[in-house]
Amino acid sequence: MNTLLKGTPVRLSERVLRVTQNNPGMFTGPGTNTYVIGSDGGPAFVLDPGEDDDVHFEAILSAVGDRKVATVLISHTHRDHWPLAPRVAEHTRAEIRAFSEQPPFTAGPRLEDGSRLSAGGTTLVALHTPGHASDHLCFLLEEERAVFTADLVMGWSTSIIAPPDGNLNQYMASLERLIELDRRRGIDVLHPGHGESIRPPLGRVREIYRHRQQRTDQALDAIAAGVATIPGMVERIYTDVDPKLHGAAAFSLRAHLDALVEGGKVKETEPGWYVPAVGDLVKQARPNSGLDPDRAMDLAVQETRRQRGTTDGKG
Ligand SMILES: [Zn+2]
Repeated sequence: MNTLLKGTPVRLSERVLRVTQNNPGMFTGPGTNTYVIGSDGGPAFVLDPGEDDDVHFEAILSAVGDRKVATVLISHTHRDHWPLAPRVAEHTRAEIRAFSEQPPFTAGPRLEDGSRLSAGGTTLVALHTPGHASDHLCFLLEEERAVFTADLVMGWSTSIIAPPDGNLNQYMASLERLIELDRRRGIDVLHPGHGESIRPPLGRVREIYRHRQQRTDQALDAIAAGVATIPGMVERIYTDVDPKLHGAAAFSLRAHLDALVEGGKVKETEPGWYVPAVGDLVKQARPNSGLDPDRAMDLAVQETRRQRGTTDGKG
């Protein structure tokens, strides 16, 4: 059953109501989830009011009911999460709080990693989880062992990592942080920024983690095989993806390549041109050859240039 009823508050637990905005799309899936968090009768937190629209504004107010709003929280400053926040904050006389140092809205004191917000027996802990966006926060709801994952883990798809603000190495570290949090204190459910809640959660987190690792390995394999450009790699790797989405795939692959360059496994010898880093080349191409690393790098560049000359007529 699809419980993502647009514009109608859905009760997920004693302290959690979800209102899904009617803004479906390529980056929002079924729509942005706004969460109203707090016990009946006590103050409520509003997380991610979403895009500015009157119907969603009314839906959020109806989920809040006659409760006081403690704080309006923003998971990150992508435009499908916050533009309605100033209206909600003004109407409910609450403060907006986020991690961003220069948020595009008027905000109260900046949230940091580990900031605790407590109201009426509901405790939220901010977890800085960059990767999808540098200012991305998840929130742990302590009383329910639930994590609001925003766009770190989504119910409907894998997250977009768009460099330069998105960073895959940070994204992987943020996933590891969720896995570690589960190991240490147990997580019962994830409430994502888009899509259905995930229960039990850790299978999905590990699946996303493995999927990213696999894509990174595929990119490495392609580069080792002499495919040096992103379009070449997209053709080779995303064989199961509709060509209409190859633009998005290229975007996503860019994040993998940046991560490989950052990790020293690949070199970008000129913009958009990727070759194996020296250590790997020496290991793969000339075992025990004693080849000078700089000379190996030159050979790698020459080799990939030669291949480019034969594959697309340049060089
Ligand atoms: Zn986002």
